[in-house]
Amino acid sequence: MTTHIESEEHRALRAAVAALGTRHGRNHDHHELWSEAGRLGYLGVNLPEAYGGGGGGITELSIVLEELGAAGCPLLMLIVSPAICGTVIARFGTEEQQRTWLPGLADGTRLMAFGITEPDAGSNSHRITTTARRDGADWLLTGRKVFVSGVDIADATLIVGRTEDARTGRLKPCLFIVPRDTPGFGRRKIDMELAAQEKQFELTLDDVRLPAEALVGGGPSHAFGRGGEDAGLLQLFAGLNPERIMTAAFAIGMGRYAVAKAVEYARDRTVWKSPIGAHQAIAHPLAQAHIDLELARLMMQKAAQLYDAGDDAGAGEAANMAKYAAGEACAKAVDQAVHTLGGNGLTREFGLASLVTAARVARIAPVSREMILNYVSHQTLGLPKSY
Ligand SMILES: Cc1cc2nc3c(=O)[nH]c(=O)nc-3n(C[C@H](O)[C@H](O)[C@H](O)COP(=O)(O)OP(=O)(O)OC[C@H]3O[C@@H](n4cnc5c(N)ncnc54)[C@H](O)[C@@H]3O)c2cc1C
Repeated sequence: MTTHIESEEHRALRAAVAALGTRHGRNHDHHELWSEAGRLGYLGVNLPEAYGGGGGGITELSIVLEELGAAGCPLLMLIVSPAICGTVIARFGTEEQQRTWLPGLADGTRLMAFGITEPDAGSNSHRITTTARRDGADWLLTGRKVFVSGVDIADATLIVGRTEDARTGRLKPCLFIVPRDTPGFGRRKIDMELAAQEKQFELTLDDVRLPAEALVGGGPSHAFGRGGEDAGLLQLFAGLNPERIMTAAFAIGMGRYAVAKAVEYARDRTVWKSPIGAHQAIAHPLAQAHIDLELARLMMQKAAQLYDAGDDAGAGEAANMAKYAAGEACAKAVDQAVHTLGGNGLTREFGLASLVTAARVARIAPVSREMILNYVSHQTLGLPKSY
């Protein structure tokens, strides 16, 4: 008898999503794949059943993203729309926000982007300056964001801003839902050297007028302890762990795809007596890449399980480690895959060269490898801080 560390349901989900991914493949139509995955219920596996989701968690959603990636057709917006925005709204949104957004995010008919990065803050999100001030019952939001993915196709963007604490004057984080065509909400496409379907945008928010209901969780008068204006930090952390776990899934899927392509090639390609895969110089790095991806997946599963069990603090460390391990494993796997194919590694026909740039994304976003090493140095090992 074979024992599995994943439940039968999870293995069945993996197999079903893998079959969908294989049908669509690397040259897929992104929109069609998104729609079909939505109809089949895969995009909202983590969202509450009461709003049309699957009632699962990030464990299930990470399986979906990993398997699509392993088939060559990852959906980057899964990281943003159901994982970050869906989670934040499901956990902290008002009933009205949940009713308005969750069914569409769950079946994929609506999309939400997520904007936290700012040009002058970067990795130091304590420095973000996008600020909301009250104007009667409304909010006026002003600031700039950069590298925000999918704003053109998203119905709204969840913007991380700050409000001024009336008592202390300190700026507190808070999240606003900003519909795409709100006056004063501008976007400019950034010319990225990435062969990805999703585009990145620089955003300008110029006194964007938003109703009180745009603040996630509503105003301070809302249900105890969940009020948007005071609960921003909690809300933010609720979204950031799923983002890291899902980025790990994205990287592991891409790494698996690259290794599989390289192995297929190395089995056949013969330039001496035996196929190149018989040379240990080719075989061993691929075996190492496979091991690194498997290890990264184990850490991702740990992070997802902790998160789904409600242990936000425990999940934080594991999610950071999983994202780090997966980003490194993916970059190495892709590099080795390209090398295995020799000249063909750089042709469009084999489609691996463009993954070299794509693989870097998981080392940079949503939090860079250095910032994770900093986190582990300080939080886990208790070493002093240099910055
Ligand atoms: C394809 C893509 C999609 C993205 N999508 C989104 C999105 O949807 N929404 C969003 O809000 N953002 C998004 N981002 C932004 C992403 O989260 C940031 O690029 C990332 O957080 C790093 O910030 P930065 O680019 O400003 O780099 P910087 O903060 O300027 O860092 C530059 C370099 O310096 C290093 N560094 C910085 N501080 C330290 C330190 N203290 N110690 C050691 N090294 C340090 C970093 O590790 C990095 O290597 C996306 C980025 C990319 C590339």
